[in-house]
Amino acid sequence: MCGIVGAVAKRDVVPILLEGLRKLEYRGYDSAGLAVVNGDLHRLRSVGRVASLAQMAAESQVKGRLGIAHTRWATHGAPGENNAHPHVDCAGTIALIHNGIIENYQELKTMLTSQGIQFLSQTDTEVIVHLFEYHMINNSMELIIFALQLRLMKKIQMVDLIGQYEKIQSEVDKAVLDVIRSSAFINGPEVKSFQAELEQY
Ligand code: GLU
Repeated sequence: MCGIVGAVAKRDVVPILLEGLRKLEYRGYDSAGLAVVNGDLHRLRSVGRVASLAQMAAESQVKGRLGIAHTRWATHGAPGENNAHPHVDCAGTIALIHNGIIENYQELKTMLTSQGIQFLSQTDTEVIVHLFEYHMINNSMELIIFALQLRLMKKIQMVDLIGQYEKIQSEVDKAVLDVIRSSAFINGPEVKSFQAELEQY
């Protein structure tokens, strides 16, 4: 089972993220990764132990005050660096980590690919971040509305993800909630515009 960590602080969160991942190691995993915002989005991923990711972080000296991190237990796509989370959109401005399975990922992937979106992994997870990208249509307001719609469940027809435990259409609402609860994403440009709010942490 994977592990998900998120942190926002006045100081660099990379040590906090790594400590969180270490505490989740007991759950089992095959690879690990993190993304932080520091002006731009920075992502590190490694196969194997959290210690390898920590070493990579030390060498790269990546820092940021907002970040997410993940230990992956592969379900779709072999364990490997390209399949490790976080996954990013084509522009590299949104990073996403996810726990679970997207059952209808193949049909979503086909749709998104037909829109010119290029996939870089074999995971089901990557469809989520490209769905955000697809709905964002280069307009951050679109993304905010999409995220709110997901949370408020006002427009279920916009929500295309079907979760792990739900196979019956009438349970799609719950599936969507599960997907939202088990995913985390950060958006570089949005974070920049909320820099003032970040100061309070
Ligand atoms: N299904 C996702 C993948 O294979 C997430 C697996 C997990 O929960 O770690 O990448």
